[in-house]
Amino acid sequence: MQALAEVDRPSDFCTSGDLPLTMPGLVVEGLGTLHLPLGESCKLTAHLYKLLVYETGSFFLPHRDGEKLDRMVATLVVVLPSVHEGGALIVSHDGHQHEVTFSGAASGYELSYAAFYADCQHEVKPLESGYRLCLTYNVTLAKSRGKKGITAPSYESVVGKISALMTSWRNNPDSQKLAILLDHRYTRDGLSLGALKGVDRSQAEVLFEADLLVMIAAAKVGTLIRNAELLRLLCRTRDKNAERLELCARLCEGYVEALVTFDSQQGDDDWKIQQLDRAALLTLLVEAMLSIEAQSPLTRLIDHALNHRNSYKLNDVHLAVIFTLEPRFEKLAAYNEAVPYWLAACRQLLQERTTKPPKKPTDYRRVDKLSCTCVDCRVLCQFLMNLEQREIRMRLNKERRRHLHDVISSDRCDLTHVTERSGRPYTLVCTKTTASYGRASNIYERDLKSLARIMDMEKRVLAK
Ligand SMILES: [Zn+2]
Repeated sequence: MQALAEVDRPSDFCTSGDLPLTMPGLVVEGLGTLHLPLGESCKLTAHLYKLLVYETGSFFLPHRDGEKLDRMVATLVVVLPSVHEGGALIVSHDGHQHEVTFSGAASGYELSYAAFYADCQHEVKPLESGYRLCLTYNVTLAKSRGKKGITAPSYESVVGKISALMTSWRNNPDSQKLAILLDHRYTRDGLSLGALKGVDRSQAEVLFEADLLVMIAAAKVGTLIRNAELLRLLCRTRDKNAERLELCARLCEGYVEALVTFDSQQGDDDWKIQQLDRAALLTLLVEAMLSIEAQSPLTRLIDHALNHRNSYKLNDVHLAVIFTLEPRFEKLAAYNEAVPYWLAACRQLLQERTTKPPKKPTDYRRVDKLSCTCVDCRVLCQFLMNLEQREIRMRLNKERRRHLHDVISSDRCDLTHVTERSGRPYTLVCTKTTASYGRASNIYERDLKSLARIMDMEKRVLAK
């Protein structure tokens, strides 16, 4: 509850709008209610600071205003009607951007205003034509909230704190339900996340985000795929709501973080983990992150998978996912760096694997490493080492023949074995083959094909 109390005001950091012009000179009064989201209890006073005239080409580089007055909390800009183009005001805070175009004032008919917390970085783009006349005000807080000033709200750390608390709360079997009271009164229909007002909305958003983070970060064998599906669903919901995209990006970061931890903690011996469909997992995650162009978690994910190729095999996972998503890569944003990086890494691995074609054996010597050293296996081993001998015949009882069958198949020896059923005991006839050369050739051919395909994709992706 204390953590949530830090969410004490709406998360907006900038407000703007246009007002009909009543009479020149009544500008400030016309703004009577200043919509800077500080809550009703805070009385604000606007002190005229400067009259600014922008002409064509005028601009302001990104900067923050110094605190010019005690308890100064915000800057208010009032733009008087004067026909002009360009000169958008960009206010940035905590990774969010708010663009104000002052369209009312630029039309020459209305007043436009913008107000933002004093600690927000802001800039003015060059004015493209005409003149702009601005009054700037320093806005101070009349009633001091103790010594603590008010800066632009930043609730990311609160989300982190609350998600940590939620985890321990969930893991505690004695936990009781928690109810958080809303500030405003709502109708039953109005009781949805999007319809909440002011602090209620910010608090609900923080809780919602923390809850999702907790769930996404709970990486267990059984939940990895399900959570990745959920993540993809959230990321693919197409709307341009900047805050939702931001939340999705944070969830992607959280998921990758959890996956990295999960992979570092697991041994290879758990069959459930071996059953995990890494190709499906990677496909879901890459799709999710591409839909919202979340570059940094995507790069981290790809790096992680490239560095853990015991679990994320080059062919079965990396290339399988890349080829599945090939149509998706055609629509890649030009600034995407993660996918070209991934393609280049796989190309390099394939190039390393295909530097030399496998050599066809020119004599009868074959790989002679056997997992057993019993008398019969030693004979077999001598035979495998022999340059000229192609066939060996061993008269052995059933048990010993079976043992050799097992060793030949589990050690993948380049041998066929046939039992000649004449005389007692029967004779085991082993003949050398070029099976491992055949396997290596197939892999080599497949690698060459994959390499050509990857290089072709790289060309098309880079051509953009
Ligand atoms: Zn043996």
